[in-house]
Amino acid sequence: MRTGLAYLKSLDDDRCIYLRGERVRKVAEHPAFRGITKSVAGLYDHAADPKNGMIYTSPETGEPANKVFMIPRSQEDLVERRKAIKQWASLTNGLVGRSPDHVGSFLAGFAGNARFFDTEKRKFGKNVEDFYRRVLKEDLYVSYVIIPPQSDRSKTAQGQEFAFHQVGVAEERADGIVVRGAQMLGTATTVCDYLLVSCIVPMKPGDEPYANTFVLPVGAKGLKLYCRPPYALDRTSVYDYPLSTRYDETDVLAVFDDVFIPWEHVFVCQDVEKVRAQFFATPAHVLGNNQAQIRLSTKMQFLIGLARKIAATNGVDGFPGVVEKLGELACLAAIVEGMELASESTCSIDKNGVAKPNPRFLYGTMGLQAELYPRAVQILRELAGGGPLQVPSSSADLLSPETAPDLKKFIRSPGVPAEERIKLFKLAWDLVGTEFGGRHLQYEMFYAGAPFVAKGYSFRNYGYDEAVAQVDRCLASYGIND
Ligand SMILES: Cc1cc2nc3c(=O)[nH]c(=O)nc-3n(C[C@H](O)[C@H](O)[C@H](O)COP(=O)(O)OP(=O)(O)OC[C@H]3O[C@@H](n4cnc5c(N)ncnc54)[C@H](O)[C@@H]3O)c2cc1C
Repeated sequence: MRTGLAYLKSLDDDRCIYLRGERVRKVAEHPAFRGITKSVAGLYDHAADPKNGMIYTSPETGEPANKVFMIPRSQEDLVERRKAIKQWASLTNGLVGRSPDHVGSFLAGFAGNARFFDTEKRKFGKNVEDFYRRVLKEDLYVSYVIIPPQSDRSKTAQGQEFAFHQVGVAEERADGIVVRGAQMLGTATTVCDYLLVSCIVPMKPGDEPYANTFVLPVGAKGLKLYCRPPYALDRTSVYDYPLSTRYDETDVLAVFDDVFIPWEHVFVCQDVEKVRAQFFATPAHVLGNNQAQIRLSTKMQFLIGLARKIAATNGVDGFPGVVEKLGELACLAAIVEGMELASESTCSIDKNGVAKPNPRFLYGTMGLQAELYPRAVQILRELAGGGPLQVPSSSADLLSPETAPDLKKFIRSPGVPAEERIKLFKLAWDLVGTEFGGRHLQYEMFYAGAPFVAKGYSFRNYGYDEAVAQVDRCLASYGIND
């Protein structure tokens, strides 16, 4: 099993990350990334410790591997996998969306129906299997970019202003392909080992050059990562910004400047139909999003815990109006957790023997996420009032003899000294009010596609037959003379 130290060392591979006009050197030591890389290292150390029960013997390799990467083959496997994913999510309070288990679950799903990737020309299924085995053996951390750069959404890849805006195959060679263009939005790509590149947005005939799926090491020559403003960089105190400093995964635009991809790293090549179907003809989409829902339920629990503690600290938790709000939060958290458990306990075994969480319940929550999470944030903000702003500018004010006495006297609650009260409210603000918090709101609304896309998954997977039949039975039970 990989250790945190081994992970941190592996990041020193001359990857090309640009930040504030400069190239980043030594990712693990850079102030923008050292918080998140330390958190990820903590995940690896936790999983490697046998007493935490995250290790199993993988049938694919015959060796010990992390349960989060498992191809589940029974409901019991799904339970074991969930417990492992939950352990990781709990270590970061559900605030690291693209931890290694996210894309790892997609890759397990691809490998769960690897023959799907075979074509008459090339047996890509073996590449999928081989790479999945590497994930298991090496505990690889993979992120993905599967959305074309946002530019003109009324057109597909071929209709953009210039060729190879969206990443595509510029040259096919005997030993592999050369790819050119860009793709969004690589969460955690700066701090992972490999990048999975594909396109989940529908394409049409003529888009073939852009219809690909491949993996590449983040240090690959020609791959350039353009980072959004990082939140950890100017916020050095963990006490003041406990989340921004430790869990900022960063998001990047990935630019492929004629990057060579050897055939063994290609899963789909210039095939519009396969690139579309790969997510749904394999269990990839359900397993990946099941991981995301387990993480979300952990985050919802964290959010309602914060709300409850804030209400108690302010002495309002017994007021009927506050009880109603806390109750609504409890409903929202219970819905996410309940749907996650329902999708697991009503799973099905597919034709390849893979246990698939029930998509009715899985997508049921995902489709509501863009309303459900913002609502939870709104309630927390409402309960917190001006408390998150009635805090000193930094921990330094609590340490300075000139300012500390006033702050300790006036920022307090009965039984809750200043240092603890300020700590609680700064934590809440980092979740809902800082740039980090704002990005998390956007993340929960968009990480699995725009809200209309997520509701489309629900539409396609609910299974309306019984519902319509029920209405038909009702209609048939009376007539015009009744
Ligand atoms: C914080 C964050 C992290 C992310 N991480 C990743 C990642 O790790 N990997 C990755 O690949 N992607 C990632 N994404 C990208 C994410 O998958 C996309 O944001 C998502 O697919 C939506 O695409 P878009 O942002 O281009 O929005 P658009 O598709 O441009 O949609 C924006 C809005 O336009 C309207 N709209 C657009 N098209 C239509 C239509 N056909 N019908 C009706 N309305 C429409 C809707 O109102 C929609 O909400 C991330 C996004 C965010 C915000």
